[in-house]
Amino acid sequence: MWVRQLLCGRDPVGAWPKPARIRDGWQPATVREVIAEAPDTVTLRLVLTDSQPFLPGQHFNLEVPAGGAYPAVETYSASSSPWPDPQVVDLTVKEVPGGRVSPLLVRRIPVGTALAVEGPLGYFTWNEADGGPLVLVGAGSGVAPLMAMIRYAAAKDLDIPMRLLYSSKDRAHAIFGRELDRLAAEHRWLQAVHAFTADTGGPAACYHRRIDHDMLADTFADIAGACLAYVCGPFAMVTCIEEQLLRLGVQPGRLMSEDWE
Ligand SMILES: Cc1cc2nc3c(=O)[nH]c(=O)nc-3n(C[C@H](O)[C@H](O)[C@H](O)COP(=O)(O)OP(=O)(O)OC[C@H]3O[C@@H](n4cnc5c(N)ncnc54)[C@H](O)[C@@H]3O)c2cc1C
Repeated sequence: MWVRQLLCGRDPVGAWPKPARIRDGWQPATVREVIAEAPDTVTLRLVLTDSQPFLPGQHFNLEVPAGGAYPAVETYSASSSPWPDPQVVDLTVKEVPGGRVSPLLVRRIPVGTALAVEGPLGYFTWNEADGGPLVLVGAGSGVAPLMAMIRYAAAKDLDIPMRLLYSSKDRAHAIFGRELDRLAAEHRWLQAVHAFTADTGGPAACYHRRIDHDMLADTFADIAGACLAYVCGPFAMVTCIEEQLLRLGVQPGRLMSEDWE
């Protein structure tokens, strides 16, 4: 039954335990909406009780009753713009097969669930005071904090050039793919370049392979020396791309990265 539900979609609403108690620095939050983004990814739209302003790129800790003696804590970046309403926070979760928390969040959590949340946290941040142009490189759910930066710039109608190179398996797994394409069509300051690793052709992506040095050079060479660069994704990808961006001329003090391992 569980396997069937994993393969076929979300569970029907079942019992979801309440958080045991709210610790110092944490607050209750309610799941207002669960948005399907890709076959293995959802966005949980949370309403916080005690919100404070935060910066695009920051993350939150989420306490999830995962069946053990103590609740599990996992970290998720806000993918929503913190402006104008920091009380509504989108966390975009990609399922890690065999993981303790992400399969529960992707397959089972019902709308209306009360969770405990800590944050905002982290220094992988950007806002208009930092300027640009921005080089953004993301893979898989690593696009989440970069999307917060893009949505923030769109919400504030900033005119700071941003170029995103985004690696995903294929069109169906490109989280926010359609929104990114729409925003890029609407705003001349935004360019969104897709690279699909498991799609051999098709017009939806510029590239059909993993991100490599030639792709980074094609996309960013003209702005590398003057840009602020943000890289987010799996550890091996982030390390390799950092090295290649530095070779392209990105200044070490202007390169920020976040990996999730
Ligand atoms: C700053 C930050 C921001 C993040 N933002 C996001 C985000 O926006 N979106 C997102 O999807 N993720 C994000 N992550 C990653 C997220 O926090 C989790 O790591 C991810 O969801 C996996 O959690 P899990 O509990 O499902 O997996 P875990 O249970 O932690 O398992 C992780 C891996 O270990 C393996 N594993 C687990 N238990 C065992 C075991 N006993 N033996 C061997 N292998 C095992 C699993 O198979 C899996 O491959 C972020 C992480 C950080 C640090």
